[in-house]
Amino acid sequence: PDRMPRDTLDHALDLLRDTFGHPAFRGEQADIVEQVANGGDALVLMPTGGGKSLCYQLPAMLRDGCGIVVSPLIALMQDQVEGLRQLGVRAACLNSSLDAQAAAKVEQQWLDGDLDLLYVAPERLLSARMLAMLDRAHERGQVALFAIDEAHCVSQWGHDFRPEYRQLTVLHERWPDVPRIALTATADAPTRREIVERLALEDARQFVSSFDRPNIRYRVVHKDGGGTRQLLDFLRGHEGESGIVYAFSRKRVESVAEQLVEAGVHALPYHAGLPAETRAANQRHFLQADGVVMVATIAFGMGIDKPDVRFVAHVDLPKSVEGYYQETGRAGRDGGPAEAWLSYGLGDVVNLRALIDRGEASDARKQLERNKLDALLGYCESTDCRRQALLGWFGEDYIGAHDGGCGNCDNCLEPPETWDGTEAARKALSCVYRCGQRFGAGHLIDILTGKDSDKIQQYGHDTLSTWAIGQDLDARQWRGVFRQLVAAGLLEADAERYNALRLTATSAAVLRGERRLSFRREPEPRKRRGRTTRS
Ligand code: ADP
Ligand code: ZN
Repeated sequence: PDRMPRDTLDHALDLLRDTFGHPAFRGEQADIVEQVANGGDALVLMPTGGGKSLCYQLPAMLRDGCGIVVSPLIALMQDQVEGLRQLGVRAACLNSSLDAQAAAKVEQQWLDGDLDLLYVAPERLLSARMLAMLDRAHERGQVALFAIDEAHCVSQWGHDFRPEYRQLTVLHERWPDVPRIALTATADAPTRREIVERLALEDARQFVSSFDRPNIRYRVVHKDGGGTRQLLDFLRGHEGESGIVYAFSRKRVESVAEQLVEAGVHALPYHAGLPAETRAANQRHFLQADGVVMVATIAFGMGIDKPDVRFVAHVDLPKSVEGYYQETGRAGRDGGPAEAWLSYGLGDVVNLRALIDRGEASDARKQLERNKLDALLGYCESTDCRRQALLGWFGEDYIGAHDGGCGNCDNCLEPPETWDGTEAARKALSCVYRCGQRFGAGHLIDILTGKDSDKIQQYGHDTLSTWAIGQDLDARQWRGVFRQLVAAGLLEADAERYNALRLTATSAAVLRGERRLSFRREPEPRKRRGRTTRS
């Protein structure tokens, strides 16, 4: 397409300043606006908080007619429309929360040319009625563009999969002259490819922003017990600040929230099992009050625009790097210093692996989920810059100013000590093998450290050649060894037997002494300080 005429670009800047109150474009916004305002297609990959909305709002206002925005969540649409109306932009939405009369009124406004932006849920957009409306609007020149927000919903492998998104190719087929812009904050290569293919965006210009969030400090700790005590330690550094604590399950959410409240933290629970009113009230409180800690499952967060979230803590292991990055991206949207803290333990890995293995999904999907979990474990156990590892996953070649690192993650700030774990790994793996690959880490550690428990007696495990060969390390250090072996794929959780660990195809090289291993030294557990808290 031709360059946007000078006066259009000026007009865009005027709108940006006068209507939206921003002095200048951010990142690639200007180029994206230009591309779409000129009638071209675009695929926009930008992190949460990067400023995606303006990329379709401005072109919609600049072009003749109304921009049609496909958005998966009603709550998200309503927030956007409300925000736009407050700025004086003519916006509306069509969704199941409107009665027929209200919907008819919006449709009339649209056909009359009285709307700049119309937000629609995908299933509504695809209805025969709406497609016919689109034909009429198109004839009258009332379709400025199609924006497909949260475009990763088209991906079958993501956790936000929405089958209707796949049918959105109809937009391109029926109205090929209307520009399309697809936007997402999920940028790993497989998802990107799937979006391009499923939405027929092969010819669209791709705008890939850096996903770096330099103001977020990343930190990973290894769980000591349930992890609540460590979480409380972490929260002490954030007193009076707003933040989100993500937990694995509804039950965990409730128990963690309860323990935080007992310890004097202003915490509220949020998960899909709570009554709608409670959820809405807690969310409102989090958005409006200062210093609320929301303890939540991942049901919480999509579309939450609170700029001063100072931390996002994961008290259990998330399922994938993409999910983790999206969740932590909710911290520090105002650009101020923020922390992303994650605690995980061997139990988390075993739980998640078992969940995948026992799930109903196809083998291909299970394998994909295992790979995603492995990537995340690799991140957790990495001794190099966390930011580099995260951005690398999104295909970004990050080189920081601090010896290649970012200078703002735990590994950059306090480089971890490592030790040669080759011998320890051999002992651990041969112990797994000697007792038939049927036992969990706790029992294996009892054998290695030469305990004399009932279970050891019962199985006669004190006669194994591996009994008491690991007394040079204590139980905590052994847990670290097992955790890192699982993370490295040298041991795996048995899907059939709860907690049991077994060897993998790659264990043999270690057992034969052909592969050397370097482990991260486990930090000494911190002494309890001040009043004791339950953990
Ligand atoms: P995303 O949808 O990518 O998560 P939003 O479109 O919601 O991001 O924008 C995030 C925040 O950044 C909003 O508060 C928005 O007002 C602000 N913002 C967007 N563009 C600019 C800009 N050019 N200058 C200043 N602030 C901006
Ligand atoms: Zn770093």
